[in-house]
Amino acid sequence: MRHFAIVGSGPAGFYTAEALQRAYGENARIDIIDRYPVPYGLIRFGVAPDHQSLKAVSKRYDKVAESAGVDFIGNVSVGENVSVAELLEFYDAVVLATGAPHDRKLGIPGEDLAGVLGSAEFVGWYNGHPQFADLDPPLSGADAIVVGNGNVALDCARILSKTRNEFEGSDIVGHALEALDASAVRTVTILGRRGPHQIAMTPKELGELGHLEAAFPVVDPADFPPVEADEALEPGLRKSVALLRGFCDLTADKPKRIVFDFFARPVAIEGDGEVERIVVERTRLDESGAAKGTGETYALPASLVISAIGYSTSPIADVPFENGKFVNDKGRISDRLYAVGWARRGPSGTIGTNRPDGYEVADQIAAAMPPESASDRKGVEALKQLLASRSVMATDYDDWRKIEAAETAQARPGSPREKFVRHEHWLDALGR
Ligand SMILES: Cc1cc2nc3c(=O)[nH]c(=O)nc-3n(C[C@H](O)[C@H](O)[C@H](O)COP(=O)(O)OP(=O)(O)OC[C@H]3O[C@@H](n4cnc5c(N)ncnc54)[C@H](O)[C@@H]3O)c2cc1C
Repeated sequence: MRHFAIVGSGPAGFYTAEALQRAYGENARIDIIDRYPVPYGLIRFGVAPDHQSLKAVSKRYDKVAESAGVDFIGNVSVGENVSVAELLEFYDAVVLATGAPHDRKLGIPGEDLAGVLGSAEFVGWYNGHPQFADLDPPLSGADAIVVGNGNVALDCARILSKTRNEFEGSDIVGHALEALDASAVRTVTILGRRGPHQIAMTPKELGELGHLEAAFPVVDPADFPPVEADEALEPGLRKSVALLRGFCDLTADKPKRIVFDFFARPVAIEGDGEVERIVVERTRLDESGAAKGTGETYALPASLVISAIGYSTSPIADVPFENGKFVNDKGRISDRLYAVGWARRGPSGTIGTNRPDGYEVADQIAAAMPPESASDRKGVEALKQLLASRSVMATDYDDWRKIEAAETAQARPGSPREKFVRHEHWLDALGR
């Protein structure tokens, strides 16, 4: 028998568990450890609440969690409640699948003013992350700025622009729904350092902006190269650029606008104690395709600024860490210690991109310790003893199902669930 610990229950953790289970069958026990009693990482706390069909991928993870030999151990934070060195003592291999939960900083003056948020904070607020339940983003002004040209920037802009009606069927948390319904935001400006050909926005997410009830996208045709240049783009990007070109001709009698401001790099955020404006420098592309400042600056009014320019992983004691992720070679950090998903690669790709990571690392583990081999490590038995000695109250998969049932029971009409937004409410739901 082999014992494996996977730290993190997001997509990368679950794909790794699935791969290890396929490789080892009954010859392994796999424990998926998470700091929260609720699994699935960014499927719960990141993916937009109005994209329920994407969140349904968790059904596949449910099957893994319910299969023999796999356990979910929640409410245990690795690095705080138990160290990686201790896990390596108890388990044959440890896989870090801890994601990349921290916002990358803009690194410009004024970033610390009230009303300047990172997308992890804003997204966490509307998705019911307990760390951001009290965020209270300023929504009483008319002008929001979103910095970044990826899908997360689009999520933020869309959520700021939707009507109450359009959240029907979503699992946006009640506090965010009420605040957004009362929001005075009328213009959301999306700033991108480069141009339409350099966006990292996918057609589905971009296309949605053309069909919003109370908002419409505004794009300047002068920002595009000649249309023949689109031919050289890969098909997905070409489709996105075609959508953007289509937005240039759009006029609509709607109260809200989502303005794409390309070749625009924020250089300062200003205000008296809270954000009032953002100073932007016009850029152009140099020969290598990088954005170069032109020296021309202008100011945009801003009552809220959200930066959506990427994320970094949390370091864990004694694990080598560089450039916002764990130092690894094809997922291997050191003897019996591995990384997968955003903790391995950094914050890029879709949910499915994490699958090959998990399978590759499972293959490496199986090559190092063949499935028919055994060890005398104690696995979960030793972990549970240690946690009990430290008064850490671990939860399991059945506990998660109880929380899920309680969230479903308190859902408002038309919503699949009303999430608990405080750690203690999860434990209350378990009667602890
Ligand atoms: C705002 C946003 C929207 C997105 N929307 C989409 C989308 O629409 N479609 C799509 O395909 N992809 C989307 N993605 C990307 C997708 O969510 C990621 O590819 C995926 O979640 C990365 O998986 P992961 O397992 O590496 O990390 P995560 O999903 O972040 O999971 C990490 C897990 O590790 C746990 N953890 C962290 N530290 C510890 C610790 N010390 N101890 C114990 N547990 C720990 C966390 O609680 C979490 O459960 C989105 C991402 C973001 C940020």
